[in-house]
Amino acid sequence: GCKRILISDNYYPTLERENVTLETTSIKRFTKTGIELNDGKQLDFDVVIFGTGFKATTFGHIYDVIGLENRNLFKELLNAALIRTQAKEGHMVALLYIDLDRFKVINDTYGHSVGDKTLQVIAKHIRQFLPQEDFVARWGGEEFVLLLLNTTIEEAFEKVEVIRKKISGLPFKFKGQRVTVTISCGLSNIAQTMTLEEAFEQADARLYKAKDSGRNLTIFKDI
Ligand code: GH3
Ligand code: MG
Ligand code: MG
Repeated sequence: GCKRILISDNYYPTLERENVTLETTSIKRFTKTGIELNDGKQLDFDVVIFGTGFKATTFGHIYDVIGLENRNLFKELLNAALIRTQAKEGHMVALLYIDLDRFKVINDTYGHSVGDKTLQVIAKHIRQFLPQEDFVARWGGEEFVLLLLNTTIEEAFEKVEVIRKKISGLPFKFKGQRVTVTISCGLSNIAQTMTLEEAFEQADARLYKAKDSGRNLTIFKDI
């Protein structure tokens, strides 16, 4: 079945899959596999990342994991959660890097605030086309890292392609001019990589390959 993910900062755990937000007061304690509520009810998750301190940004459920220190901390949390879930049968996870194409040109041509708005619109579209349980983090200025759960690499590729095509078709208009904004994507298969770090490296290398091959592309395997 579908994998459930719990991502929480120090204050408000969000039950992504069930689309419910609980108040801190109703939580008795965190357990190894989820949370225990005050009424004794136990909620288990397949992936648990809590106490991250990462704040959700204004772009919907997108977490801000900017800066090297935050990224490393986040990787550790993610790794701990994934090692546990990898033991579970049939669990497939894909890691995805997204980077906006030639974004510096947008800033230089139309100004930084236009760039900021563009980034927000694109972030919203990325979030909107994914299931609630999938994890989306802003990883740098115009870079995103996504964790796609319970999916084969081929399914993940199809999903990402829908998003990529949707974004390249968005009708941006700056200074009366129609402008196309595109993204490049590098997808790695965590089921096949040995470690999470390796998955990040593979996704990064494939993103680089997408850039090198002309941009507005998704690379999901080595040819
Ligand atoms: P490419 O990735 O296709 O190689 O080209 P790029 O122009 O996007 O290249 P690069 O990654 O080197 O530059 C990223 C630029 O994105 C730099 C900066 O101007 C812009 N940028 C990064 N974060 C933000 C942000 O939060 N707001 C705005 N407006 N611009 C940002
Ligand atoms: Mg970049
Ligand atoms: Mg870029």
